[in-house]
Amino acid sequence: MTETVKLSAREQPHADIVRWTCPHGQHAAQGCVTCYHDSAEADPALPLWEVAVWFTSARPMPIRVLKDVRRHGCSFSLDQPSTPLVYLLSGQARAATGTEAVAGIVGFLIDNRHIVDAFTVTEVRAVHS
Ligand SMILES: [Zn+2]
Repeated sequence: MTETVKLSAREQPHADIVRWTCPHGQHAAQGCVTCYHDSAEADPALPLWEVAVWFTSARPMPIRVLKDVRRHGCSFSLDQPSTPLVYLLSGQARAATGTEAVAGIVGFLIDNRHIVDAFTVTEVRAVHS
């Protein structure tokens, strides 16, 4: 079974906003540091999510920083698709729901402000199989 959840930050109906709120009351696109730490110690019985988060950064990120993420995040990678100031953070997270998985991956950015200090999540995708 494959389940995909998608979030587009623009024009969200209220029901979607509720659905994308993690158990700690954070919207997944805003990130949740608690979800990030929880996913690091998650029960191995929980589903493993492949998460992709697209975001824009207020400032360009040096290549050095992009490479640094691989060291810090273990299974995370940060890439720059062709558009300037648009970045893609992808990685795996174990969590009960796609919302928590996404909140955790974005929470990684919140927890590592040296990587990016101002960013806006524009789209996310979480898939588990
Ligand atoms: Zn949370």
